[in-house]
Order: sequence, then structure tokens, then C-alpha cells
Amino acid sequence: MAAPMFVPFYHRVADTHPNDWTISRTEFERHVDYCQSRFDMIGLDELQRRVDRKDSPCPSVTFSFDDGYAENGEFAIPLLIERGIPCVYFVAIEHIRSQTPFSHDVDAGVPLPVNTLAQIRDMADRGIEIGLHTRNHVDFSKVTDLQTVHHEITNATEELQNMIGQRVRYFAFPYGLPKHLTRVAIDAVDEAGMDGFCSAFGAYNTVGRDSFHIRRFHGDPCFARFQNWLSFDPSKLRSEPMIPYTIGHGESKQDYGNEEVEAKLTCEALIR
Ligand SMILES: [Zn+2]
Repeated sequence: MAAPMFVPFYHRVADTHPNDWTISRTEFERHVDYCQSRFDMIGLDELQRRVDRKDSPCPSVTFSFDDGYAENGEFAIPLLIERGIPCVYFVAIEHIRSQTPFSHDVDAGVPLPVNTLAQIRDMADRGIEIGLHTRNHVDFSKVTDLQTVHHEITNATEELQNMIGQRVRYFAFPYGLPKHLTRVAIDAVDEAGMDGFCSAFGAYNTVGRDSFHIRRFHGDPCFARFQNWLSFDPSKLRSEPMIPYTIGHGESKQDYGNEEVEAKLTCEALIR
């Protein structure tokens, strides 16, 4: 079976200070209700198993969050925990540690609060998968020197593991567009021992693709657009940009992102 695997990303669930990266509590719950009644709700590890085994028995959804906004701890995350829905929560560790608002919020004149370390630890203890979103929310289309990339990814992974007392398996690229998914940064994710990275340019996961790259789309507050993403559209596969990268060393070295066309065609043939 070759059912698609959907991974929407969210930033902030709150009813105050609405902006482009916030969804209201009511709308978020509507997304959760909709997905829970129609899809398998799975973690990223199960998604990767399905991709690798080339067997995805029914369409699935994995919820994910980027950045680490404090209000998520008041409604969205407790809701997911209460319902037993898997979720991966990506944080920028320096913002958590120093309690510094994000520059995009400061620039907008609303320095929104970020999660505390106690909140992140509590989420981890209650089964939320905590992932890394760099140290300082850097833009890898502008930051290319090895030392900084290692500071932001490889060293930060170890620190986040120490902060929460658990292994950190996944990384989400800030901004997440193809230009941000640089080879040097993907190398660092691999070297840090993580199991995969997430993009955010709007794409699907399907069986037989490269499972180290997990494709996501926006958990759009406009419900019609959200539904549209969840009704698989093969034309989106055809127009998807290639993200070439290499993981592993020596004999286990593998190149990905080049044989995508073949995987796409196979998938389309199976879906139709
Ligand atoms: Zn971000």
C-alpha cells in the first residue's frame, strides 16, 4: 500500500496576538478532530518505517511545531497529550535557555513569550518528541561556515539532549525552504546522530522516498487550504524541488535526492 503521510507544521496556538504564524485554539482543535477521525496519527519514527518498508496501509498525519512558543503549553500540547496523539516539538535552545523572544516577533512589535526549560522537560516526560530547531534560529542560506553550523546543530543537539535527558532524533530547518536546506547543514544533522530532518516548503511523504528527509506543509488556519493539502494531489509531487544530500560515511555512504523522479512516478502509479 502506498498511502501518503502528511506532516503539518504549526508555530503558535493562541487566542491573543493573532499573526501569520498563529492559529486559534478553536481552529487548531478543528484540525485535530478532522485528522483524528480520518487518519492514522503516527510519530515520525513510524512514518520513516512506512517510507522505508514501502508499506503505508492508510493515510497518516504527524503533528509538528516549530520555535517553542509558551502558549502551546496551555492548550495545544495538553490536548494532544490527552488524546494520545504523537507530536514532535522543535525548539531553538538558546531562546529557551535565555527566555529571549524571536527577532521576527520583536520586529513585529510583539515579543511573544517562549517556552521555559521546565515546560520542555515536562513535554518530553509526557511523551512529546522534542526536536532541535538550531540554537539561535539561524538562516542557513546565509550562515555557511562550518564552525557556526556545528555550533548551531551538532553541539546544540548534545546540549538539548542534556537539557531534556532524552535522545534528540529529529531536526527542523528554520524557514525550511529549499535554499535553507544546505548540504553542510544536512551533513551536520547526520553527524549529530539524528534520524532525519524536516523541511517546510510544502510537500508529501510517500513510500520508497528518502526517509531521512521528512516533508511538511503549513497547518494553515484557513481550513479549506488545510483540507486541500490533506487530499493528496499528485501534481504537487511533480513540481516538488529536489533536495540532494549525502548521509553516512565509507561503505554506508548514501546519496539521496537524485532518484526522486523515479520514486515519484512509482508513487503516482500506485495511487491512481
Ligand atoms: Zn522556526
